[in-house]
Amino acid sequence: MCGIIAAASTRNVGKLLVQGLHKMEYRGYDSAGIALHQNESIAHLRALGKVQILEDMMVAEKPKSKLGIAHTRWATHGEPSEANAHPHKSKDSVYIVHNGIIENYVELRDSLIKDGYDFTSQTDSELIAHLLDYYLSQNNSMIDSMYLAKAKLEGAYAIAAIDIKDDKNLVVARNKSPLLIGIGTDEMFAASDPLAIAQLTNDFVFLEDGDVAEISAESYRIFDDSKTEVTRDITRIDISSQATSKGDYRHYMEKEIYEQPDAVSNTIDGRIGGEDVLDNIFGLGSSELFSKVKRIQIVACGTSLHAGRVAANWFSSIAELPCQIDYASEYRYRNPHVDENSLIITISQSGETADTLAALNFAKEKDYLASLAICNVPTSSLARESDFVLFTNAGPEIGVASTKAFTTQLAGLMLLSAVIG
Ligand code: GLU
Repeated sequence: MCGIIAAASTRNVGKLLVQGLHKMEYRGYDSAGIALHQNESIAHLRALGKVQILEDMMVAEKPKSKLGIAHTRWATHGEPSEANAHPHKSKDSVYIVHNGIIENYVELRDSLIKDGYDFTSQTDSELIAHLLDYYLSQNNSMIDSMYLAKAKLEGAYAIAAIDIKDDKNLVVARNKSPLLIGIGTDEMFAASDPLAIAQLTNDFVFLEDGDVAEISAESYRIFDDSKTEVTRDITRIDISSQATSKGDYRHYMEKEIYEQPDAVSNTIDGRIGGEDVLDNIFGLGSSELFSKVKRIQIVACGTSLHAGRVAANWFSSIAELPCQIDYASEYRYRNPHVDENSLIITISQSGETADTLAALNFAKEKDYLASLAICNVPTSSLARESDFVLFTNAGPEIGVASTKAFTTQLAGLMLLSAVIG
């Protein structure tokens, strides 16, 4: 899953959107694109490869617009190509960007083809534009069309959509894929990653699964899964732009290697006193719960799985407890047996790793004593959905090869094995 950024403003947003795409480049992507509302028409630019190519196209065309959506794509359905890059459109009127996977896309696409829609990409995402157009053409509002589309869509999605007939509002929807609103002055944003808009605002509203929101330069309205208008908390986070610039280092990975001593201190600081790990650093009631733990299950992916493998040795040597470790992507398919008094530990830098979240959701149906997450992002889905959490406080890790995120996970897991021991 890659990046979404959208803006409704009283000033031109093209440049802001491309800057936001640059901020999300660290996540990896294969293509980028943008759709900008220009009253009579929508400027639609897409490029295979670097965001810089898209930026050069923008410089050449200079589209002016106060409402737009943009995307970096990490292909899941259809090869990386310009035709498959987002935004996707329906009849030059509805434009969408999508992160995630639509699981029932074959069935929905076939039925839209029968309704006369032409498909120009191989993606699972394009059908969202046609589905919205289909409902809009039956005189539904964009919000209502999004709810009607949502009722058909199976899978994970963060979506942002604009319609040629409305140059003021954009509509977004979230299900199992991160999405937030950023509140500016005379402008509002939506993004899948707070870093994309960190230079524009410090005030974020994190959407929940099932939410749909309508966003204009002046205001936003959020509706929950049952279409009831809701108020969600505004979270103030100061993600300083310094944390996301290279400074004097040649590249982010070098910078982050040198940040490790500070990052590890940040993980441990305030959590140990004298020789002991302090009580309840994993959350209220955690120390009491740990005394009951008889067995540990770890699930994670990639680098976090490696941190888990190291920690599995500590749980057995320091805490003297049996510990099983699984790839998060495989855990739920092996019909795991859960012994009494087992603790499930999930590890993820971003706290948005889809397989780890799916493993946690699966584990909630099982008889675990509790779930505990080791994670770097306080506002992440994993942090919100776990019973107990330890934040690693590593700061943003931009380099693709993990450095301080890994070492701080180890520090957190060492605290955990010590306290359980
Ligand atoms: N599944 C969509 C595609 O392949 C979205 C991928 C993404 O999240 O970037 O185009």
